[in-house]
Amino acid sequence: MRRKERPRKLSTIFSELFFLAFFLDTLHFVTKKGETMHLRPGTALLPHDTSVLQVGGDSSHHLMIEGLNPCNEQWLETLTQGQAPDNKLPGRDLGVEKLLHTHGFFVGESFRFPPLRFSGVDPIVIRALELLIPFGLRRFHFEDSGFVDSELADCLGLRYVGTQRAKSGKEYVESLSPTVVCSRLENPSLVVVSTSRVFDHMRNGQLLSEDQDHLLVCAGEQSVTIGPLVIPGRTPCSRCLTLAHNSTFSFPPSDEALRRLAPSSLPSVTQHVSALELARVISAYAGITTLGVSAFHSLTPPVSPIVTIGPTGSVSVRYLSPHSECGCSGFARPVAPLTAVPSAEAASR
Ligand SMILES: [Zn+2]
Repeated sequence: MRRKERPRKLSTIFSELFFLAFFLDTLHFVTKKGETMHLRPGTALLPHDTSVLQVGGDSSHHLMIEGLNPCNEQWLETLTQGQAPDNKLPGRDLGVEKLLHTHGFFVGESFRFPPLRFSGVDPIVIRALELLIPFGLRRFHFEDSGFVDSELADCLGLRYVGTQRAKSGKEYVESLSPTVVCSRLENPSLVVVSTSRVFDHMRNGQLLSEDQDHLLVCAGEQSVTIGPLVIPGRTPCSRCLTLAHNSTFSFPPSDEALRRLAPSSLPSVTQHVSALELARVISAYAGITTLGVSAFHSLTPPVSPIVTIGPTGSVSVRYLSPHSECGCSGFARPVAPLTAVPSAEAASR
């Protein structure tokens, strides 16, 4: 049966946005020593006259290089063909390379993501994976014993209605790329816990006690909250956020009352923007992008950004500190304060 057209079109738009975000964010990544680099396939090379070459076809992002000789231009042509360039090729010019680096036109040979576990399979998780898999996410695992509802079936296909979420999600993502390995992982670097209406504090507490980094995603009625990114002992936990939230109410609704409510159907734009934000946070954790346009770029423990995606797709950010009544710092790891998100090498250990 055909999948609905509208979500697919939006997905395509956000894939393109994500592509652009990666394109602009690759600068720090490509400058690592020993990395084979090339221009992204499809980057336009447009001669203006005999001495000026435009690299990049976008009116908002391109580079004009003057004084190139025919060998330089041939070397640039080979770099756009998507294969590792031969460094001995005539025409290689370190000055031009530096210029391309500075303007973000070089890309690395491959992106490396750490192994992930997704606790909760829902449309936000699936759409985030649709964005991340083309950029190299390979190893992850699903945990969800629930059944596919109509909202998730909009992503996976209607034939999956009523089937088990983890199993159907695995079948779907493995169909996206032959290199995806969706199987059990004993030691994931990060667990993404996605829930509806309320946090699963028992589950999150267990992850905290196991010293396991985890990222919380909570879908509400018309909005989604992403964060905190819990790095035990360094950043606040889900209970810190709930305590901070409840302090603004005289009589906050109980988790039990919220849990009894049926999952809500999120606005399509909220779902897609949330997937984009989730993909960005996971990339930042992996050290693959600096997330230049994301709040998680400024992650400075012990304060953690909480991103909220509203009913119109608007994104707002607030910052959370550990709550004095929580005590989650008791799970602190005896390590030096975090100064940056983990590098791709460290995260893929
Ligand atoms: Zn806490």
